[in-house]
Amino acid sequence: IGMVNAADPELGAAMERELTRQRENIELIASENIVSPAVMAAMGSVLTNKYAEGLPGKRYYGGCVYVDEVENIAIQRACQLFGAKYANVQPHSGAQANLAVYFALLELGDTVMGMDLSQGGHLTHGSPVNMSGKNYHFISYGVGADGVIDYVELEKQVRKVRPKMLVAGASAYPRAIDFEKLAEIAHGYGAYLMVDMAHIAGLVAGGQHQSPVPYADVVTTTTHKTLRGPRGGLILTNNPIIAKRINSAVFPGTQGGPLEHVIAAKAVCFGEALKPEFKEYARKIVENAQALATALQQRGVKLVSGGTDNHLMLIDLRDEECTGKDLEQRLDSVHITANKNTVPGETRSPFVTSGVRLGTPAVTTRGMGAAEMQVIADCIADCIWHYAEKKDEISERVLRLTREFPLYQ
Ligand code: PLP
Repeated sequence: IGMVNAADPELGAAMERELTRQRENIELIASENIVSPAVMAAMGSVLTNKYAEGLPGKRYYGGCVYVDEVENIAIQRACQLFGAKYANVQPHSGAQANLAVYFALLELGDTVMGMDLSQGGHLTHGSPVNMSGKNYHFISYGVGADGVIDYVELEKQVRKVRPKMLVAGASAYPRAIDFEKLAEIAHGYGAYLMVDMAHIAGLVAGGQHQSPVPYADVVTTTTHKTLRGPRGGLILTNNPIIAKRINSAVFPGTQGGPLEHVIAAKAVCFGEALKPEFKEYARKIVENAQALATALQQRGVKLVSGGTDNHLMLIDLRDEECTGKDLEQRLDSVHITANKNTVPGETRSPFVTSGVRLGTPAVTTRGMGAAEMQVIADCIADCIWHYAEKKDEISERVLRLTREFPLYQ
């Protein structure tokens, strides 16, 4: 930021303020994390100068010999990390990865099943406002009354709908997903299984969640959530025919030149995730999520599905006066960052909601543990029920905590 500041003080000042926000706030957005200085350095490097349309060894530009080395390292590490035969590391984001898979394996208008956005799915899993929902005939599935996927019901729906593809994975689902079972269901009716493991990729890499790679026809992910890499996407498969179709669907199908500086940062991230310490990190994310969930429940806060198996949980405010929107704003005012979220059985509008999603990847990276989860849970519970009288005191507690766990010193 110092260099930006010197060249462009107006922009530099805004970036400084964002750094201060990250240092002072407790980050509980389940899809966010804090990258290592090496990941960040790779992103801010000379590789941003290079055009490299195509794939390593088959480029449409000269001078690609060294970015070929970089991209090959990223591909090889992605395959090693997730036990996959083929990887495309070029998708600019998770949405781009999903779009490329649809473009590779579906025809316009094909029937596809994906998890409903309001029940935990992602926009790119068939929302009518997203290109997925506009280009393909998506039928959504949801969770049972207990907030958990009912595999028997899902099979019945697949039998009836006969989709060409079943899309699994979610943005706000606190429970483990049985990918083996989903593959059995999809393949039993001749459908592809695509798993979007964006949220849990770090848990899969760290051995804390069943891997979809042995079961799914194709797996997509982002690299910036639990995996703790740069903002970006990744596609994996074990099928050579699908791999070829995906490569052409990424380029020239849906993207132009790859972001080689981001691909370098992905390679750094995969290298970090291959180290034994990352397994420990993934274990702590889950341990912290369970500690936070238990502490919240002890204060009387309700959680969708009664808890969590992964890195996230959903506060259920359906019986409270305080809405998801209220709680997000109250938390923001005391330096805790989280997002409002719809909950299964939602009665309020998507702009208000009855839920708040909380995740532990970033606080775990920051070094916090069970004791800090207890403090955070108390701050959140106080924001729901005692905000007016305790606001300033909660804010003090949060700032004391973030000062104890300094960021980017
Ligand atoms: N897939 C899932 C399950 C997600 O949660 C997200 C982002 O939140 C995406 C895809 C999209 O990723 P991006 O924001 O990088 O396009």
